Amino acid sequence: MELNTPLYTLTGIGSSLTLKLSRLNLNTVWDLIYHFPFRYDDFPNTSSIKDAQIGQIVTLQGEIWSIANIYTKFGKVLTQAIFNDGTSPLTLTWFNQPYLTKQLKTGDRLQISGKLTKYKNKLTIIVPKWERTLGYGLSTSDVSSSIHTGRLVPVYPETAGLTSKWIRTKIATLLPQVLNKIEDSLPSSIRDGMLPLHEAISYIHLPDSMNDVEKARERLGFDELFYVSLATQKARLEWNRKPLVKPLTVAENDLKSFIKSLPFNLTGAQEKVLKEIVSDLKNIQPMNRLLQGEVGSGKTVVTTVAAYLVYKNNLRTLLMAPTEILAFQHFETVSGLLEPFGIRVGIYTGSRKFTKHSPGRWPASPAFGPASTRLGEAGVASQRGEPNGLLESESDVIIGTHALLSQKLNTQDVGLIIIDEQQRFGVEQRTILRNRAKLPHFLTMTATPIPRTVALTLYGDLDLSIIDEMPKGRPQIKTFLVPEKKRADGYKFIEKKIKMGDQAYIITPLIEPSETLTTVKAAKIEFVRLKKIFPTLTLGLLHGRMKAKDKEQVLKDFRSGHIHILVSTSVVEVGMDIPNATIMVIEGAERFGLAQLHQLRGRIGRGTKTSYCLVYTSGVSTDDRRRLKYLETTFDGLKLAELDLKIRGSGEIFGTRQSGRFEFKIASLSNLIMVEKTKAAAQKLLSDNPSLDKHPQIKRKLEQLASNVMPD
Ligand code: ADP
Ligand code: MG
Repeated sequence: MELNTPLYTLTGIGSSLTLKLSRLNLNTVWDLIYHFPFRYDDFPNTSSIKDAQIGQIVTLQGEIWSIANIYTKFGKVLTQAIFNDGTSPLTLTWFNQPYLTKQLKTGDRLQISGKLTKYKNKLTIIVPKWERTLGYGLSTSDVSSSIHTGRLVPVYPETAGLTSKWIRTKIATLLPQVLNKIEDSLPSSIRDGMLPLHEAISYIHLPDSMNDVEKARERLGFDELFYVSLATQKARLEWNRKPLVKPLTVAENDLKSFIKSLPFNLTGAQEKVLKEIVSDLKNIQPMNRLLQGEVGSGKTVVTTVAAYLVYKNNLRTLLMAPTEILAFQHFETVSGLLEPFGIRVGIYTGSRKFTKHSPGRWPASPAFGPASTRLGEAGVASQRGEPNGLLESESDVIIGTHALLSQKLNTQDVGLIIIDEQQRFGVEQRTILRNRAKLPHFLTMTATPIPRTVALTLYGDLDLSIIDEMPKGRPQIKTFLVPEKKRADGYKFIEKKIKMGDQAYIITPLIEPSETLTTVKAAKIEFVRLKKIFPTLTLGLLHGRMKAKDKEQVLKDFRSGHIHILVSTSVVEVGMDIPNATIMVIEGAERFGLAQLHQLRGRIGRGTKTSYCLVYTSGVSTDDRRRLKYLETTFDGLKLAELDLKIRGSGEIFGTRQSGRFEFKIASLSNLIMVEKTKAAAQKLLSDNPSLDKHPQIKRKLEQLASNVMPD
């Protein structure tokens, strides 16, 4: 038996089981032994029936005296057996498993575990766990070889038709056959007292105590974090080895007068991160920095300063945004700040390519549309746009979407690449951009608050700059979790505010109604419904499947105040900046993480007027309500992200888009001690042996990991 033996080649695993196993991503023996229990049932190895107490969880060895199915008048089947351990008879009852009478016969010897109760004045165990044993009075060694009863029993993630009991049996039989094939790639210096790998795997499945489980989890969790940490640290080393031909020159005077030209003073936090960025630009190593700051904290402004400095060095800047909407918005802000200095800003998206200096091409001209803006189609769409030579020769700063990745755009003299909202971009896309330009400094902006533990692990290759201060004069957003029965009051409030000149967003989780999620609001339906509720107001609809031209028009109308209420999906989540919008209604809030809700809320409170966020939940779960309540009192995105991490795990921070990029079965990114320990271990290993040649197994494992799940 080898670790890579496909499961379908094993006896007893036919095509139907193979299919079910593959649903759990279990294809080889290795997959199966890496399918870990999510909890353990504690069935202590105890007592005889005579000595046991009612209500006690017991494990008993004995014999079936009789067994039969009983059909109730409600069409249910009970299987009842009389069981005796030599001290007293006991009734065993199962529901809807009539086939049990074929598996269990009078005289069979079993070990059973379950809770002792009294039913109709008879000692009973309802739905006992059972397995066959050799006889009465098992010796201790026999008991420890049991797997379903009388011990800590692992409970596995299941799928329809594939029970935990089946998985447990299979793993228990396969494990002894492959245990000696499991190589431990960690040298003992790193393992540092933790279990060897094969022991950890064996303990996680069949532990003798919870202490075994803890030790196994420690080791297996360490491995998960260690390899990710190693990969990001290695990426950092490699990045640092890339020489920059020529460091940028930054004239302090220039910098000062540009900053003076801004319509406001930079916050202390903006100044701090700008200093970090400028120092990177002057370095001979290319910058690789993550700029984190809440929505509205002024990241774009800071990066515009960087673009200015790059321009002063006769190099161009590319700014890549996750959506066309945002690209246009950046285009407006950035060009507004840079054009007074004669810097030419161009836009390059799936449907548009031009500079502001090209007369007649701005605003929208029908000649350019309609083109699909669905991400991923951008490259195709760009091929039928304008010739690019014009754009390139005319633009010092080019702002765009994924279309910037198209082969046609010449990026040779690009000195700085800025990526907005980096978690939405795939690794490959970043790599393409990075490799295209000759001398790239790399700056990534994100409004996603990244807890320290996450940054250390997943973004260990990036330097981190944090804007932790909002521009002055931003009023706190009054946030309310609104009970359903007050919905009408909420609408009245909105109408009153709008009559006073404000505008509102109403966010739904879905675009179209879903067959399975019937209670979840969908933008298209809400739009129609709300038009009837607000007959005197103008409503607009915005979602990701609209054409670029239509999206733009809606946004323009909203920005100009022509549209009062914008009904939208979370496409407005990132970066939209419309100061007159002061009301944010979020429907189905339970479907979002706290950090994401906070980002949505960040769309309002951008001007000086008091802003209101009304949060509705279609769920009834009190856990959801308790979680959402945090929004009323917490306005720190990082704190909310930490809460997400604690309550819902790391997937929540990045949303579903990210799932699969890094999946931790055991490790928790909220465990700072473990995260720091793995980081230190990775650093030590790399400083001793940067090429990892002395650790071929680790190297191989890392390469495997890098090929599918790694951040670059
Ligand atoms: P982010 O990219 O972090 O969401 P932006 O750079 O888009 O933030 O800035 C959000 C808004 O705040 C913009 O309207 C911008 O002009 C304004 N702004 C940025 N920095 C400051 C500042 N220091 N003082 C006042 N307003 C600012
Ligand atoms: Mg922004």
